[in-house]
Amino acid sequence: MSDSEYQLETLAVRAGRVQTPFMEHGEAMFLTSSFTFDNAAQAARRFIGEEPGNIYARFTNPTTSMFEERLAALEGAEQCVATSSGMSAILSCCMGLLKAGDHIVASRSLFGSTINLFNNYFKKFGVETSYVSATDVAEWQAAVRPNTKLFFLETPSNPLTEISDIAAIAAVAKKCGALLAVDNCFCTPILQRPLELGADIVIHSATKYIDGQGRVLGGAVLGSKKLMEPVYGFLRTAGPTMSAFNAWVFLKGLETLKLRMDAHSANALQLAQWLEQQPNVARVFYPGLPSHPQHQLAMKQQKTGGGIVAFEVKGGKEAAWRVIDNTKLLSITANLGDTKTTITHPATTTHARISPEARAAAGITDGLIRIAVGLEAVVDIQNDLARGL
Ligand SMILES: *Cc1c(COP(=O)(O)O)cnc(C)c1O
Repeated sequence: MSDSEYQLETLAVRAGRVQTPFMEHGEAMFLTSSFTFDNAAQAARRFIGEEPGNIYARFTNPTTSMFEERLAALEGAEQCVATSSGMSAILSCCMGLLKAGDHIVASRSLFGSTINLFNNYFKKFGVETSYVSATDVAEWQAAVRPNTKLFFLETPSNPLTEISDIAAIAAVAKKCGALLAVDNCFCTPILQRPLELGADIVIHSATKYIDGQGRVLGGAVLGSKKLMEPVYGFLRTAGPTMSAFNAWVFLKGLETLKLRMDAHSANALQLAQWLEQQPNVARVFYPGLPSHPQHQLAMKQQKTGGGIVAFEVKGGKEAAWRVIDNTKLLSITANLGDTKTTITHPATTTHARISPEARAAAGITDGLIRIAVGLEAVVDIQNDLARGL
């Protein structure tokens, strides 16, 4: 299904579907670890790559391939490599494209496990990472070394929804001969298409909005055929492969992604506007609000502000915990991208292991609360928060 022929909504429902001789209307789920060959000669041809086809589910599975094609169509990517989780997508990307002695420039505002992976594991193997501001393009340029191979960012960031200028940072990367990878988990291709803005690689935690209903873990790496070849090579060898069952769940998730992202965004905007009116709320962080410092950039780069809202309550940790503990409807959990609204206190959960000084420098105050806005009626979410506010 060619990318240019159909709109995003159509691709989300139809792209990548392959029908078997049983003429199923939905996508078939192939729960098999291996595949058989007509004869010894065909097996030989398949193994040396002379003939395309499935061999073993660590390498490929038709259900997973359908998911890869559908997501690739949505991101406008030549190729997608599906992985067992978002973290294994980042691992596979870097294992495929980097070697000892290479250097990464990354946004300081990255998902915690990504920072952990870079600092505690890649460093052991001689890959160093420098951290720079998510928003100051000059810092990216200044951090470049002769051995810099990869720029890595997430936008909007978690939990403060800072916006990185993908096109501007991509231009710096290109000039320096580095690749730019964008973790597009918060926006999904429905709201933001980093490859169109000049990024080389898109990373997903499909666990979040792509599933959208909190069921399974998965991830993806997308980019040109040339860049994805070594990434797929690592996956096929090391095995952080997406299961066929999970791929089937994600295929169904993609079909409703547009509707859900629109609804998450509309609810989040309404909630953010309401929070700004509350006397005990000191500040609201939401890219869709004109008060957001990068509102203009966000509206140029993304279709909407997305589904994540952060806000600071007056009174520090005690006040923030009071809001959280007085909810009856919202789920107290660090997960996000679900139909059910979730509420988190970053300073004591997702960002608890960072030193208080570093946390303060990052703007993650004790009064900060993050909401991943779900699909409930906004008035019910408001009433649930109003009790503690
Ligand atoms: C959750 C998340 C990840 C990691 O994904 P998993 O599927 O949990 O491994 C990476 N990046 C971002 C932005 C995330 O929110």
